[in-house]
Amino acid sequence: MQLDEPALVSESIETPRSTVLQATAHAYELLGAVPARPQLFVAAPYGSLDDALPVLLDSPVEAIGVDLVKGSLVSTGSTSKTIVGGVIDGHNIWRGDLAAAFDKLAASGATAVSSSTSLFHTPHDVDDEPLLDPRLKSWLAFADQKVGQIATLAKGLVEGRDSIYTELDAATAALADRHDAPGVRDGAVRARAAALVDADFNRGDYASRLLAQEQALKLPFLPTTTIGSFPQTGEIRKYRAQYTKGELSEREYEEYLQAEIKRVVDLQEEIGIDVIVHGEPERNDMVQYFAEHLDGFAVTQNGWVQSYGSRCTRPSLLWGDVAREAPITVEWSRYTQSLTAKPVKGMLTGPVTILAWSFVRDDQPLAETANQVALALRDEIEDLEAAGIGIIQVDEPALRELLPLKKADQPSYLDWSVGSFRLATAGVQKQTQIHTHLCYSEFGVVIDAIDKLDADVTSIEAARSKMEVVPDIASSQFSRGIGPGVYDIHSPRVPSTEEVTALIEIALGSIPGRQVWVNPDCGLKTRGYAETVESLRNVVAATNAVRARVSA
Ligand code: GLN
Ligand code: ZN
Repeated sequence: MQLDEPALVSESIETPRSTVLQATAHAYELLGAVPARPQLFVAAPYGSLDDALPVLLDSPVEAIGVDLVKGSLVSTGSTSKTIVGGVIDGHNIWRGDLAAAFDKLAASGATAVSSSTSLFHTPHDVDDEPLLDPRLKSWLAFADQKVGQIATLAKGLVEGRDSIYTELDAATAALADRHDAPGVRDGAVRARAAALVDADFNRGDYASRLLAQEQALKLPFLPTTTIGSFPQTGEIRKYRAQYTKGELSEREYEEYLQAEIKRVVDLQEEIGIDVIVHGEPERNDMVQYFAEHLDGFAVTQNGWVQSYGSRCTRPSLLWGDVAREAPITVEWSRYTQSLTAKPVKGMLTGPVTILAWSFVRDDQPLAETANQVALALRDEIEDLEAAGIGIIQVDEPALRELLPLKKADQPSYLDWSVGSFRLATAGVQKQTQIHTHLCYSEFGVVIDAIDKLDADVTSIEAARSKMEVVPDIASSQFSRGIGPGVYDIHSPRVPSTEEVTALIEIALGSIPGRQVWVNPDCGLKTRGYAETVESLRNVVAATNAVRARVSA
């Protein structure tokens, strides 16, 4: 019987560690005392067991699983328990260095082998990807291939290293091939990253930016906007599928998308939204869309993994140096701006989220890869600006999600993740307004990071928590624009005008009015039109009611 205990490696649990350890000892004491029980295997993925290891060694369980990829094993002393060494990375899709994994396993004293985590993070089978480049495929291991690797290492443990040398050598050869393959290292990309200086990460003084933006954008008090996507209707999906199958020409598909954008712009104008979005109809997914347009990425056909609940996602593979060959979103935004006199908000996915929702190369620090993605986005942002787009939103919903479990690892993570966002966005003029959007409501946890992103406007989830973020925002003295979501888009429920009015009033009660934006708490792509239109009308009516109260 396997019992998964990732909590034992986490420092993000509020219960004091000593209580966790006592509870662990107590729980396994009880489970161990059950008569005629199965053998117990406690698996602790995602980090080191540290001080929980002696507790488990003293407990009556038969086997302990340790993550030797994210964590390490100091010493088990002499134990009769089976130590299961998780040396095959369950978290990524790389075939990796099998010989090094075997040596680590042998040195750890483990007597059994597994993946470091559950395999539910990885897609099923590399052989289900007939369209992937065969060379890239030879560097990959999805779940089936990882199980094969585990079996190989298990054989090596029992029969000795010599018994598996063919498999180890083949993996080593694939790794060498990957190292030298074209595109994995691009001289121009590397030279550009190496030449970065502090100024490339800094937009300069906020006060003068604010002034320039007020003059350029002339937005009303409590500007209204949405987070970017409008409902991805069955019709949009149908057209995309037809285009992908070649049943629709590029021109026909583009004309359809333009008509869809025009419809969404007209709708926002009619409802009275101040900052207009194009609705993202051209995007299958906010990360995959960019992956498909950037060098260094590949996309799978069948590489599905669970995202949350019943939702699945097909992460892209980031295997090489990242560069942008040509503008990606610029024509869509330019077209959108041509349809309206109101400001159009350009919409990009940020570097941290692109990494978080892809399978990322493991042969260099994430920080380096993040800066490459950031530089590609920086070029896109400069092109958007040159095309007359005065507001650009760079979404980072995954900023919190990638935050390391161990507190000691958090500062360096926040350093590079925030740094890559700043690198992407710091190339613009003062009057260009940079927005970001984050998808969670524990503002307090990463308030410093949000502050350091230095975006001019940040939208954040807040409706579900009834504006509980507002006190955190107020006490942090956050000085830039903030849009605490005024309704929950995860449900089809339409918020009433009174309800939204009350939430806006809560925000205004603690945050200076000139900082406050009014928006839903996330993108509308999973919603239907009926509830979307009604909800947005109520949001605008509520905003107008508050404006009238304030100016009276
Ligand atoms: N701009 C994206 C959208 O509106 C943001 C999605 C997200 O936060 N996950 O869909
Ligand atoms: Zn969101």
